[in-house]
Amino acid sequence: MAQKETFSYNTRKEIISNIDNHKFDLLIIGGGITGAGIALDAVKRGMKVALVEKNDFAWGTSSRSTKLIHGGLRYLKQLEIALVKEVGTERAIVHHNAPHLVIPEKMLLPIVKKGSLGKFSTSIGLAVYDFLAGVKSSERRKMLSKEATKKSEPLLNTEKLLAGALYYEYRSDDARLTIEIMKKAVSYGAVCLNYAEAHELLQENEKIEGVRVFDHVEQNNFNIKATKVVNAAGPWVDLLRKKDNSLQGKRLQLTKGVHLVVPHEKLPIKQAVYFDVKDGRMIFVIPRNGKTYIGTTDTVYNKAIDHPQTNADDAKYLLDAVNKMFPTVNLKMGHIESTWAGLRPLIHEDGKSPSELSRKDEIFISDSGLISIAGGKLTGYRKMAERVVNLVSKQIRKESDQKFAKSSTENETLCGGNFENQQAITDYIIRLTGEAKQINLNVNHIKDWVYKYGTNSDEILEIAYNIYKDEKLEADLLALSAEIIYGIRHEMVLSIADFMIRRTGRLYFERPKIKIFINELEAILKDKVALDSDFHENQTKLFWEEYEAVMSFEKVEA
Ligand code: FAD
Repeated sequence: MAQKETFSYNTRKEIISNIDNHKFDLLIIGGGITGAGIALDAVKRGMKVALVEKNDFAWGTSSRSTKLIHGGLRYLKQLEIALVKEVGTERAIVHHNAPHLVIPEKMLLPIVKKGSLGKFSTSIGLAVYDFLAGVKSSERRKMLSKEATKKSEPLLNTEKLLAGALYYEYRSDDARLTIEIMKKAVSYGAVCLNYAEAHELLQENEKIEGVRVFDHVEQNNFNIKATKVVNAAGPWVDLLRKKDNSLQGKRLQLTKGVHLVVPHEKLPIKQAVYFDVKDGRMIFVIPRNGKTYIGTTDTVYNKAIDHPQTNADDAKYLLDAVNKMFPTVNLKMGHIESTWAGLRPLIHEDGKSPSELSRKDEIFISDSGLISIAGGKLTGYRKMAERVVNLVSKQIRKESDQKFAKSSTENETLCGGNFENQQAITDYIIRLTGEAKQINLNVNHIKDWVYKYGTNSDEILEIAYNIYKDEKLEADLLALSAEIIYGIRHEMVLSIADFMIRRTGRLYFERPKIKIFINELEAILKDKVALDSDFHENQTKLFWEEYEAVMSFEKVEA
């Protein structure tokens, strides 16, 4: 039996029609991983929580990262010991809570002549990292001779190679992690609205008491009242601080990072490699679903925050780095299939270059009571949330005597994450593949679902059965149709971009195939999400603009 809709356009309409009658304990502005984490932490403590996101969930930086849950190796280089310890611990927790979505990935560190890594320093550094980050014994660093490194990755530049080291990072999908945290918060009663922009901060007696929201779907306004308001708007944090007249002291420094996607056969690495480049920075190349992605850059960004784009210099920088480290691959601009560009919301520090800026998060409290959080990483989202909600809880208790529980997200399995271990995931894939054969779906369709939706793949398969009963669709279209219907019912998919970019990452990893079924998927969307406004038309136009933009390599201004 299909479950009822839990997080859909219909549930959204119902909530908004009632919103005037509510006063929330906490309102969060921003539906990236920071906002989602805060919503889950707060609602689990017993707070009445609302969250507004001006676009789609994870539309900002949280869908445009390197998609790794880091142990924080690079922070060791900057001697940020406490940060290495915290992100190491957090990485283990996120993996435990969403094992289908946060997966260990073996990483090779080549040590090369005149590089920034030496054999001895890397060995000691990784040992310290293993200790600080609490890395489990099976994933601890392994030093490799030159021969063993060559064997591990035959494409490496052997002229420069001295030795290598293997360690582990965890691969994830940033936007999916965000949506699974958001779904969990919603399951505990949080109200989370996408396409709802906080465009005015409401004050009474010079204290913030809520926001005026513009609903981009219905094209109207409404107010949300709350005892406390948190600004978790990532790169947009300072715009809201400005609206609050509190943009003083520390400010954000945005830096842009881009990634390129090429077919795996053009850069056929055997495992992920993390290597250093001439300017002292380090770059990842990561194999994923028949592609290899390359990233990232780190450059000061002062242009329009809503539309960061990959430019020709960014692409050239990454291609040059790859061609130097893997001299036989000869990657060219023409091999790039897709790109994405994201903005790091870092805290400005005088005289520091982008790569030297700390990734630590900071909280600012304004005279009006607006609490802003900036900086940080995907990896540390849970701890950041705990710190913010501790503060909110303390403030509310002081002002009204109302008491809330302690943070309890450490053992909170995220939606779809109920697997004992990696073997349980494999067993689940085998079982579902057996069942799906009846409707001609194969193991690749099932794997694709399970590594995105975990145990919720059962429901997607059930949707697929129901479609198949009425219409014998071809397997790929059947799998996609079931997936988008699941997204509409349980993940607040309102536009084709929500589905193709944030819920599935297809614009980045399957761009050449996007056009095959898009009309059929849009037809399903319009049928299931029937709107009076021209939202669908606007969103479709924006999606095709984005489709072009990721490959337009915007010209660099002189
Ligand atoms: P965002 O995700 O940007 O969310 C803020 C949201 O607020 C946006 O969706 C925006 O639309 C919304 N908003 C803004 N104004 C309003 C308004 N007025 N009303 C309503 N909503 C509003 N971290 C890692 O741990 N691992 C990595 O591998 C990694 N790689 C990275 C690579 C790059 C290139 C970059 C740029 C960052 C990377 N990070 C990584 C860092 C990580 O991605 C960010 O720290 C994190 O995603 C920030 O999340 P956020 O929720 O604070 O911001």
